[in-house]
Amino acid sequence: MPRFDVLTLFGAYFEPLKTEGICRRAYDSGAMRVQTWNPRDFTSDAHQTVDDRPYGGGPGMVMLSEPLEQALRAAQASRQTAGLDPAPVLLFSPAGTPLDQRHVARWAQSPGAVLVCGRYEGIDQRFIDRHVDAEISLGDYVLSGGEIAAMALLDAVARLQPGVLGCADSAQQDSFSDGLLDCPHYTRPPSYAGLQVPEVLLSGDHARIARWRRDRMLELTQRRRPDLIAAMRNQGRLSARDED
Ligand code: SAM
Repeated sequence: MPRFDVLTLFGAYFEPLKTEGICRRAYDSGAMRVQTWNPRDFTSDAHQTVDDRPYGGGPGMVMLSEPLEQALRAAQASRQTAGLDPAPVLLFSPAGTPLDQRHVARWAQSPGAVLVCGRYEGIDQRFIDRHVDAEISLGDYVLSGGEIAAMALLDAVARLQPGVLGCADSAQQDSFSDGLLDCPHYTRPPSYAGLQVPEVLLSGDHARIARWRRDRMLELTQRRRPDLIAAMRNQGRLSARDED
């Protein structure tokens, strides 16, 4: 049952995750816990200052180390009170390792982490040097803060918690879970705007349907993400039939 402690200036971002959709099930059932910590609550000046101008000049502001460090200390102490070991500290950053399903699966099975959400031009490097264990990127673009990246990780982790998805197999059939992209899906009606549902899906022949789905997954992945096929081949995860 992972617990995530999120260091953020904007904790309200995380509320809808607890009240809407699939994620809500993970929180309601206690399969996953999320607690936010606002560095502003760990300041000692009247203005509750959490940022300052960058040394060397230039635009924007930089998040101060001290309030973040105090918030981190409080989060780790709270975990200890709950009987948990200190958690690894992850920072969301464009300079991080791109988030992928392997990371998500690892964090889903872990006791959790402290997630640090940067804002403004980023965080004083000394906080990063002293406390951050890994940096994670959501992709090659710049967000205004780490919150949306943290929400992406939390959402992806929540749906892997036992009992969260309606159908137990659902996550195993998703893209990336076995290294391939997912196959196309169809629902009623069988004919829509002149387009038919592939005949095999109406056949009731489960072996044929499974083969058709696997073939579509291989075909789509080969076309869109040949790198994933190459990785599976290198790991010996493609059967002789897959290679046909
Ligand atoms: N000056 C930084 C740069 O150019 O790399 C961008 C800072 S950004 C406006 C503020 C914060 O948003 C970052 O500190 C980081 O926490 C978060 N962020 C922005 N883009 C991100 C991405 N692609 N992945 C993860 N976090 C991101």
